[in-house]
Amino acid sequence: MTSIYLGLGTNLGKRENNLSQCVNLLSANQEIDLKKLSSIYETEPYGFTEQPRFLNMVVEIETMLAPNQLLRVTQDIEKKLGKKKLFHWGPRKIDIDILSYQDRVIKQEMLTIPHAQLHLRKFVLIPLNEIAPGFIHPLFNKNINQLLDECQDESKVTKIMHGKNLIS
Ligand code: ADP
Ligand code: MG
Repeated sequence: MTSIYLGLGTNLGKRENNLSQCVNLLSANQEIDLKKLSSIYETEPYGFTEQPRFLNMVVEIETMLAPNQLLRVTQDIEKKLGKKKLFHWGPRKIDIDILSYQDRVIKQEMLTIPHAQLHLRKFVLIPLNEIAPGFIHPLFNKNINQLLDECQDESKVTKIMHGKNLIS
């Protein structure tokens, strides 16, 4: 049931507060068990670069929810926290991506698992490597540590604090 990883990101408003609310809403959900939290990293924006820096982190959860049900829950939390994406890769209060769901491979219109960009982004791989270095990406058959080694993303990712401080 473990090895389900979510990537959280925010670059609008009180960013730490957004992460904290997100983590606490996840943990308040009866269907979700929060297992591990990575540190929080400050990262340069990806894609569209003229926008505030992001805070990113990764959490490991346990859940009986199916991938599509989990997506509904994470999208509800995004809405509750006032996510209004202005444009693709643009600023947002909170973004929750389902990075992986055990060794499942899913390609649906609304859901791609593992997340299509997981292996390309240091702001995902660095926090993921912190809590799940041995997790094997089911499409590439490489673990997170190897994917991080091979990642070409040059953007700066700086650890600012541990995620445990977020739990209230
Ligand atoms: P971004 O690509 O910038 O994260 P959004 O968070 O707005 O953009 O997500 C856009 C769409 O991505 C959502 O409507 C969702 O259905 C889809 N999606 C596909 N795969 C995933 C995934 N693994 N986790 C979260 N959303 C996903
Ligand atoms: Mg998203």
